[in-house]
Amino acid sequence: MAVDLDVALVDHHVHGILSGELDEAAIESGLMESTAPPPPGTSAFDTQLGFAVRRWCAPLLNLEPLAPADDYVRRRLELGSAEVARRFLAAASVSAWLVDTGYQSDAVTTPDELVALSGTPAREIVRLESLAERVIRSGVGADGYGDAVSSSVHGAGTAGAVGFKTVAAYRGGLALDPGRPAPAQVAAAAGRWLREIQSGAPARLEDQILIRYGIWAAIDTGLPLQFHTGFGDTDSRLARSDPALLHDLLLASQPAGTPVMLLHCYPYHRQAAALANLFPHVYMDVGEALNHVGARSATVLAEALELTPFHKMLYSSDAFGLPELHYLGAIGFRRDIAAVTGAFVTDGLWSAADASRVADMIGSVNAQRVYKLGPS
Ligand SMILES: [Zn+2]
Repeated sequence: MAVDLDVALVDHHVHGILSGELDEAAIESGLMESTAPPPPGTSAFDTQLGFAVRRWCAPLLNLEPLAPADDYVRRRLELGSAEVARRFLAAASVSAWLVDTGYQSDAVTTPDELVALSGTPAREIVRLESLAERVIRSGVGADGYGDAVSSSVHGAGTAGAVGFKTVAAYRGGLALDPGRPAPAQVAAAAGRWLREIQSGAPARLEDQILIRYGIWAAIDTGLPLQFHTGFGDTDSRLARSDPALLHDLLLASQPAGTPVMLLHCYPYHRQAAALANLFPHVYMDVGEALNHVGARSATVLAEALELTPFHKMLYSSDAFGLPELHYLGAIGFRRDIAAVTGAFVTDGLWSAADASRVADMIGSVNAQRVYKLGPS
C-alpha cells in the first residue's frame, strides 16, 4: 500500500525545539534520551534513530539519503537552526501540536514560537509537577497549598490548556496508592516540602501524597491526563514505569471517566494495549518509541495494534529539541500504518476502506474527539 501523506495527524504529545544554534555535541545529545554523552570515540548517530535521521532527514537538507553523519552535521550547521526547523516542521505536515510545556521550558521554543516556525496551530498540555513547583514557590502556606493547586489546575483548563501531563514515573514510579489524599495529609506534606525548600533543597516535587493530589485535581477537571510510561531518561526507573502498575489507579478513576493517556509505553506497549482494551477511559500511543526503534518501527506499531482498540490509540512524536524528530515521527507513522494495515488488506483480512478509516482514527480523529479539538 502506498504511503498516504494525506493522513491527517494531531501530534498529541510533543515539545518545543531547542532555541539558538546547536553545535555537534548538542545535535548528538538530541538523538539520545540519555543525558550523558556517548562513550568517547562513538557517535549517537550509530543507533536506529541516527540511521533514520540519515535516511529520511538528509534529503530535506539537500543531501543524499544515508549521507554520512559528519556531512549531515556540517550541512545542518551551514543552514542554521531556524532554516532547518522551518524545513522539518513544515514537512511534518501535521494539523496540530499539543505541546507539553513543562520540560526545560527555558531552553525550548514556546508553543507560539513553534506555531510561527511551522505554520501549524498548537495547544498546551500543562505538566502537573511543574505547576505544583510554581505553587510552592509562590509564597503559599502549607494549609493553602491544596486549594492553590486545585485552582491553578482548574485555571489552566479555563485558560485554554487541552490536557495535563504527569511525570509520576520519574518521581517514584507508577505503583501509586490509588486513593485521593485527605486535606490534612496534603497540608502536612506541603509543610514538609516547604521546610525542605527553606533549608536549601530545590523545589522538586517528589512527595507521593502531593503527586497524587495533583493527579486527582487533574482528574476532577475531566480533561485528558497524560502519564509518562516506559522508556525515558535515567531519572525514570524503567521497572517502575510499567503502565500495568497503574491498574489500581485506573480502577479508582474509572467512575470519573477522565481520559487517561498512556504515553510512549515501550517496552511495555503490550501492557498498555491490554489496559486500553480493558478500561473505557484509557488510551495509549507508541510515540517516541517509533522514532527510537528506527527500521523496526512498523513491528512495534503492529504489536501495539494487537490488542489496542482502534478508537483508543493516538499518534504522537514526543519530539523534543531537534525538529528532525517532529518530522521523523510524522512520516514514520504514515509509512508504518500504511505498511501494517496494508499487509492485512493484502492478506484479505481487512478491507482497504477499513485500513484507511483506522489510519484516520489513530492519526487525528481520536485526538480530536478525546481532547475536544474539533475537526482539523
Ligand atoms: Zn514528552
